[in-house]
Amino acid sequence: MRPSLLDPLFAPVTRLPGVGPRLAVLFDRLLGEPERPARLVDLLFHLPNGGIDRRLRAKLADALIGETVTVEIVVESYRKPPAGRRVPFRVLTGDDTGDLTLVFFNPRPGQVEKLLPLGERRWVSGEIALFDGQRQMVHPARILDERQLETLPAVEPIYGLTEGLSPRLLHKAALAALERLPAMPEWLDPTLLAQQHWPGFAEALHLLHAPDSPEALAPENPALARLAYDELLASQLSLVMIRAQARAARGRSTKGDGRLRERIVAALPFSLTGGQRQALDEILADMAGEDRMLRLLQGDVGSGKTIVGLLAMATAIEAGRQAALMAPTEILARQHFERIAPLAEAAGITVALLTGRDRASQRAASLAGLADGTIQLVVGTHALFQDAVQFHDLALAVVDEQHRFGVHQRLALSSKGAAVDLLVMTATPIPRTLVLTFFGDMDASSLREKPAGRQPIDTRLVALDRLDETVEAIGRAIAAGAKVYWVCPLVAESDQSDLAAATERFEVLRARFPGRVGLVHGQMTGPDKDAAVADFVSGATRILVATTVIEVGVDVPDATVMVIEHAERFGLAQLHQLRGRVGRGSARSSCILLYKAPPGQIAEARLKIMRETEDGFRIAEEDLKLRGEGEVLGTRQSGMPGFRIARLDIHAALLQTARADAELILRQDAELATERGQALRVLLYLFERDAAVRLLRAG
Ligand code: ADP
Ligand code: MG
Repeated sequence: MRPSLLDPLFAPVTRLPGVGPRLAVLFDRLLGEPERPARLVDLLFHLPNGGIDRRLRAKLADALIGETVTVEIVVESYRKPPAGRRVPFRVLTGDDTGDLTLVFFNPRPGQVEKLLPLGERRWVSGEIALFDGQRQMVHPARILDERQLETLPAVEPIYGLTEGLSPRLLHKAALAALERLPAMPEWLDPTLLAQQHWPGFAEALHLLHAPDSPEALAPENPALARLAYDELLASQLSLVMIRAQARAARGRSTKGDGRLRERIVAALPFSLTGGQRQALDEILADMAGEDRMLRLLQGDVGSGKTIVGLLAMATAIEAGRQAALMAPTEILARQHFERIAPLAEAAGITVALLTGRDRASQRAASLAGLADGTIQLVVGTHALFQDAVQFHDLALAVVDEQHRFGVHQRLALSSKGAAVDLLVMTATPIPRTLVLTFFGDMDASSLREKPAGRQPIDTRLVALDRLDETVEAIGRAIAAGAKVYWVCPLVAESDQSDLAAATERFEVLRARFPGRVGLVHGQMTGPDKDAAVADFVSGATRILVATTVIEVGVDVPDATVMVIEHAERFGLAQLHQLRGRVGRGSARSSCILLYKAPPGQIAEARLKIMRETEDGFRIAEEDLKLRGEGEVLGTRQSGMPGFRIARLDIHAALLQTARADAELILRQDAELATERGQALRVLLYLFERDAAVRLLRAG
């Protein structure tokens, strides 16, 4: 159980004053996860990635060009654009040392007049530029009267945002969350704290959310280092604990005779690649050994991990035992099941699907079959972990993680059997040096080559203002029999959700191609989603408009075109995953990255890399380099996937220290029973690495 002292932090953000249901939707989008709303702790760990200094109060004559300043001005006159002309609204202002023109593009009617009444004194904050020899400020970041000026923070933090959520709202919410921060014990070693000149945990959060200078937010600042260390220590502690437990629980040898495997391979329309054979050999050797297997199988989307997992499971069944395959989503579990079932049948393996959506009678039958061993292989979602699920003799659990990283599920599945071997499949190519960070001492196999017969994907960058041409090209493609994914992200204009964007695109495309367009998004019910995907699979629809839900594993091998709208808003890993949805068959595929011109610098770099390479490992490396460099939209992750604060580029050295620290702590206090041990338990819960704490209790 989580220490009750942390309860306020795990409350939803709607507990904060001023955060109602409408704002909550935005916070959830930025900080929540499917089926988990944004909480105070998510808000507090969503740290600013920079700050704007608003302290400089200058006279106009002294204000430096290109610097952010706050100046006091008097509003002198308006230069309104003539009706229908696309010129900005200018406001002429000045102080006793000089003039300043404020420039507004397309303001709402009356907006400028309201903010800047003629003859009034105001404080404007923003960057001063020279234009035709005149000082001007385009869209001041702040326009304040005297009363409002007093509330202007000295340094305004810049946060990763989602569309519709303003920096001010986010900052206000973060400050409100800070006020609810409970007093917590110090879990770090006092000597280390003193050596590093690190602040306490609460103080570090204050320093970052309410900075007193922009330097306080520099990447190497001690407050950030402290919190990154907390996170790294929590993760290393839990990994060391898990490893110790895995070592303590004896494994057993599972050897097959190859008869089921042979039948499956014979039923495949292709032969295994060298990489697949090698990975399988490594896995079978582990299973045959006396120790428990903890192995990672990494390979890009489409590299053919599933078949390797299936052959490993067949081996467990040859040995008279059971195997389970767990997928992160309903759609993916179903798809695995549908692809595996015919192969299993060919080999004479009984297989069942277990998800949260099964009818009661179906579910009862599955549970009975698993308990008495008549079901040899089960494919499912998290539903597999429920206490009601009992196995007759589970030997191997295969977890298809796609690109999530968590230890909870793995632990839960391994508790389903005496000495369950564990194979984790991940589509995120992780540089070898990082495997330790995410997975502790797991062994890793990787599939680097693509199955034979794959053609490279023709990737093109197309500016959004050529949307019509793209639609016409899509029309020709579907007339020739192609299947097309059309992915829509967050919409640019105002507060609409990604859902609205996808729905709108769906309507437009449907009007153009009646009866041939389907829609799938995260808020649809399961059966509706399945139906939309099924129509696309069968070819009844030829275009599937989707939000990023398809990122997690829709598999339609004959889909050959991927259109990604507003590609500039996606991260590299995401683009790579999405593109991996096509190019899976032998037909030539293409990927059209529709971007809004001009893309920002980072977005442009990303798009360029996408055009240059399909190598997931290279893309992963480039992604690490580009991330955390001031991305604005969708900065959900910091530098390392699975970590919210720690960044590989800045905090790599701390990782080694945290590793050593964790080992020392557990050598001296294996049960985390001392006073510091208790504090460390709080830390584990705080960073949600608490699955490890449960191990302690289990003994
Ligand atoms: P992953 O799980 O790694 O994303 P899959 O296992 O889903 O990849 O495989 C992608 C596609 O490639 C599937 O349609 C699968 O049948 C096919 N495939 C797998 N291995 C091979 C192979 N050796 N040769 C040709 N096609 C293969
Ligand atoms: Mg897969």
